[in-house]
Formats: sequence, structure tokens, C-alpha cells
Amino acid sequence: MKLILLGAPGAGKGTVAKLLTKIDGSVQISTGDILRGAVAAGTELGKQAQAAMKAGDLVSDDLIMGIMEERLKEDDCKSGYLLDGFPRTIPQAEALKTLLEKMGEKLDAAVEIDVPRDVILDRLTTRRTCTGCGEIYNVKSNPPKVEGVCDKCGEPVVQRDDETEEAISNRLNVYNDQTAPLVGFYEKEGLLLSVDATSSEAVINAIQERINS
Ligand code: ADP
Repeated sequence: MKLILLGAPGAGKGTVAKLLTKIDGSVQISTGDILRGAVAAGTELGKQAQAAMKAGDLVSDDLIMGIMEERLKEDDCKSGYLLDGFPRTIPQAEALKTLLEKMGEKLDAAVEIDVPRDVILDRLTTRRTCTGCGEIYNVKSNPPKVEGVCDKCGEPVVQRDDETEEAISNRLNVYNDQTAPLVGFYEKEGLLLSVDATSSEAVINAIQERINS
């Protein structure tokens, strides 16, 4: 599978991507995870991305395209990839289109995961993330067995520092202004698959139906 997962922060892109990797061995590529890793490691990339991320603003298109050009050429992408959090602007979508044409690759679909804003707000304020492996928890519906400790890898589970109310509200506005227009872009490309995200299973089923049709 070669898919783009579109959807507001908290729509469940990461959860859906993780479930899909188990089906056919496609890799999940999350630009947010790559950037958080760079910030934690204190690399040059991390230093350049840190301030924008903390405020809930986007990192520059050039920086992101530099990362993705390298990433998509890696060997593990041969079995397919699930792009989670990329592209996020029209210039990124156009640059990705050019890059894939150069590489002779075609996307199967751009999946829009649609979730009401009040559900999103509730999810993001209660979301917790593992600093080690990126596993997602929720303090209300899916807490780790031991508070603050990842079930999978034992590393600390924390609230991301862009998950303050202010940064969340900014991220949702940034999504509406800069990322939502990608729905129209991929509709024109004939790649759009819109799904009502009642549950992750419903999203997975809709994707499998599309891929197998
Ligand atoms: P979410 O989807 O939950 O908002 P991500 O983990 O995808 O969060 O991204 C976290 C932050 O990383 C974003 O708010 C933004 O600052 C930066 N980021 C991630 N992907 C991109 C991208 N494709 N373009 C620009 N900035 C990005």
C-alpha cells in the first residue's frame, strides 16, 4: 500500500497507520515522529524545527521535503508506505507529486479521516505519547498499565508539549487553513477516499475495500 493519511491532529492517523502496517508490512512514516526524534537528539534539524513545533505551527516546506526525499528512497519503502502527517500544505503535495513521478511511483489513495472538532479536542487534551516508541495512550480510554510508563517499551509516557490548550487550538486552525485544502487537491487527482472515522476498524475496512477493488 502507498497511502497518504489526511486528517486533523487527533483524527487517528497514527493509530490507523500502526494497524495498517500489521496487515501488509508497509512502513509508517510520520514526519511528526521524525521531527520529535530530531528535537530529542538535539540535531541541527531538531534545532530548526523546535520553536515552530512547540507553538503548533508548521515547520518549513523546504525542511520537510529534505527529510522526505531521503526517507522515501530508503529500502523499507519498497514494501509500501503510509504517510502520516505529510504532506500538510499544497506546496508539499505538489513537491511530493513531482518526487513520486521522478521515482516512477504511484499512490493508491489519499485517505481523509473525518472526525468532529469536539471529539478531537477531547482526544488531544487526554492523549499521552511514549517518548521511546511513540505508542499513543489516552488517560481516560486507554491508559498505560502503570501510570506514566509505556506497556511496550518501558520508556516514559508524557503529554506532548504541543498539547497545551493554546497549542492545540493553534494546530487545529493551522490544519483548517493549510492542510484541509489538500482534500480538494487529491480529489482532483482522483485519489481521494473520505471515511467517517467512527472507529479505527471502520477506517481500515474502507481502505482495504478500496485497495482490493
Ligand atoms: P499532529 O498530527 O498530532 O498535529 P504531528 O506529530 O503530525 O502532530 O506533528 C507535530 C508537529 O510537527 C506539527 O505541529 C508541526 O509543527 C510539525 N510537522 C509535522 N509534519 C509536518 C509537515 N508535513 N509539515 C510541516 N510541519 C510538520
